[in-house]
Amino acid sequence: MIIVMRPRSTQAEVDGVASRITKAGLTPHISQGVERTIIGVIGDERLIHKEHFSLLPGVEDVLRILKPYKLASREFRAAPSVIDVAGVPVGGANIVVIAGPCSVESEDQLLDTARAVRASGARLLRGGAYKPRTSPYAFQGLGEEGLQLLAKAKKETGLGIVTEVMESSDVDLVAQYADLLQVGARNMQNTKLLRSLSKIKKPVLLKRNFSATLTEFLMSAEYLLAGGNDQVILCERGIRTFVEYTRNTLDLNIVPAIKLLSHLPIIVDPSHGTGRQDLVTPMSRAAIAAGADGLMVEVHPNPAEAFSDGDQSLTPERFQAMMGELAGIANVMGRPLSRT
Ligand code: PEP
Ligand code: MN
Repeated sequence: MIIVMRPRSTQAEVDGVASRITKAGLTPHISQGVERTIIGVIGDERLIHKEHFSLLPGVEDVLRILKPYKLASREFRAAPSVIDVAGVPVGGANIVVIAGPCSVESEDQLLDTARAVRASGARLLRGGAYKPRTSPYAFQGLGEEGLQLLAKAKKETGLGIVTEVMESSDVDLVAQYADLLQVGARNMQNTKLLRSLSKIKKPVLLKRNFSATLTEFLMSAEYLLAGGNDQVILCERGIRTFVEYTRNTLDLNIVPAIKLLSHLPIIVDPSHGTGRQDLVTPMSRAAIAAGADGLMVEVHPNPAEAFSDGDQSLTPERFQAMMGELAGIANVMGRPLSRT
């Protein structure tokens, strides 16, 4: 349920509605817009009735949101949310490109990549220090040492850091280094991790699980929002289908669908979405044309030697060429690439 206050409603009226919600055993989520205040009711709505609120002073309307996601819905917030990541707005007027290696491997590998992607126009640096690998025998990431290398790369290039956190016990540590904390596809429904991330003051990049429906995806975002973190960016990274010539099937349908149903920004990861470096550029073009707010792309100075995901990693040269192509399509869409 959301309660729409009248324009120029007073603080006392807002407080009155909030305390009525609290009295019913639910939690108010107050969103102060330019025009008016909207109050979301968080919790089991069977405990309340529309009539409890419609006659309270300052209330203009009481709407039941029929969708299971509330705070993530367009009904709750009509205007698109713009999330600030280390000074880079995501979801605003410009397309943001995040780039970097799948895994942080060494200082040279990371710094070479960081310098190169920055020179080509990437605004944020990605790199995994904690890696969710299919095989327990595969490289699992450098852990905290990887985070320290990311900090070094940030210091040198000024690029904000995007890196994955896999366990709720690591959230505080990763949050010391990351500007945007990534929840990987495999953890999209790790509710303990989502609850921990809902308590921090940093933005979260929520990747769609490869078998998640749109509703499940937005319900995971809802965990973050309901827990108190409204800095959420969604990421489509491909789903499992019967096709075998690509690693995943990049579900670009979900980009305009999310735009219709939610105010949250959505970016696209064409690297995991295709698994093939030769498909990354065409699908990046398509993602921008479909209305994505940004891209996250894997880049490695020597993909043949990469510890993970070499097949889908662009060389710095190919990344530079791709950025040139994307600038054109971003302009056509009226959302030029974000630049420093
Ligand atoms: C990654 O971004 O390197 C990654 C592991 O992605 P996903 O969780 O989408 O597989
Ligand atoms: Mn990867």
